[in-house]
Amino acid sequence: MTRYIDVQDLARLVNRKGLSTCLVEMAEYIRQDYLRWQDFEKCARLANHSPDGVIELMPVSDHNLYAFKHVNGHPKNTRDGLLTVMAFGALSRVDTGAPVLLSEMTLTTALRTAATSALAARYLAREDSRSMALIGNGAQSEFQAIAFKTLLGIDEIRLYDIDPTATAKLVANLADRPGLKLTVAGSVAEAVRGADIVTTVTADKAYATILTPEMIEPGMHLNAVGGDCPGKTELHRAIVEAARVIVEYEPQSRIEGEIQQAAADLPVTEFWKVVTGQVPGREHDRQVTLFDSVGFALEDYAALRYVLDCAQALDIGQDIELVPTLENPKDLYALLQPRRVGIRAAHPASCAIA
Ligand code: NAD
Repeated sequence: MTRYIDVQDLARLVNRKGLSTCLVEMAEYIRQDYLRWQDFEKCARLANHSPDGVIELMPVSDHNLYAFKHVNGHPKNTRDGLLTVMAFGALSRVDTGAPVLLSEMTLTTALRTAATSALAARYLAREDSRSMALIGNGAQSEFQAIAFKTLLGIDEIRLYDIDPTATAKLVANLADRPGLKLTVAGSVAEAVRGADIVTTVTADKAYATILTPEMIEPGMHLNAVGGDCPGKTELHRAIVEAARVIVEYEPQSRIEGEIQQAAADLPVTEFWKVVTGQVPGREHDRQVTLFDSVGFALEDYAALRYVLDCAQALDIGQDIELVPTLENPKDLYALLQPRRVGIRAAHPASCAIA
């Protein structure tokens, strides 16, 4: 049987545990899997591009589980009442190929992206970081704000979006978060000035320059989330070239990250080396660090593992027959025989949908 988690199930799971708890626990699952970097069979994701956006397939496996995510990125979607990013995914057993989890991954992606961003910032941002500029106040933004508050103790966030209604929505959604001071800025420069951390999470299918060199101050940590596709970036090239750049999986980030703008030999460090302690995150307090996030399949693997563990512990979701369970596995044809269906019905363990 395969555990099936739909959007309402995932929302119930998060509300039962609490969003902050989910972000902390998911960040720990992600950290644990980055520590096991060498155990994974990895590849850059397979991206199918169209004029309006991209649809990506993100596979990864270790000796135990195989994960994939199907995710899109269509910045124009919100104009038509659709999310920019929508996703679903699965976990399967490597020893048999049998799927164990089929899950929504739109909410899960927002959780895992925010958990990964905050996890990276714990290694890369200055320890005394307390303020963050949050540029782009759409679907991902609440999750980013709450993750940085919960995992890093960020207590002041300056918000900016070209769409004031997006910022108003973010302010309203965070109104019940105690200890978080929110300031609405009139421009990117105003939001960024004096901030310890800058998160860019905008959506535009373009080489955008949300951040320009004169905005960057010594010691800042930049968490660049929205540039995640060929031809889709957020930072001026000079910022990328001057920063200490940390990427998730270099072969994918060279194509999709902020570093696509830079020379192919620009030195970058993969995040797992920082997590395992092989190299330091930040080298000194005045260094500008850049987490060039594009989203990597290993983070989805960890997130799906977390969702499955929680769903089983809390008895959330349905066990469905996603692939056939047969008395004779060589007799697939039996599924089409009404009399055989009758026989199968006598074995609820193999065909019941809970
Ligand atoms: P969204 O469409 O809900 O929100 C994006 C916001 O950016 C909108 O409110 C829009 O008005 C704003 N914006 C666009 N251009 C801007 C500009 N020049 N200045 C300020 N604000 C601007 O999208 P979302 O779901 O929040 O995703 C945001 C971005 O993050 C997308 O590009 C998406 O592809 C990316 N993303 C990356 C990861 C990752 O792992 N790196 C994961 C999820 C999403």
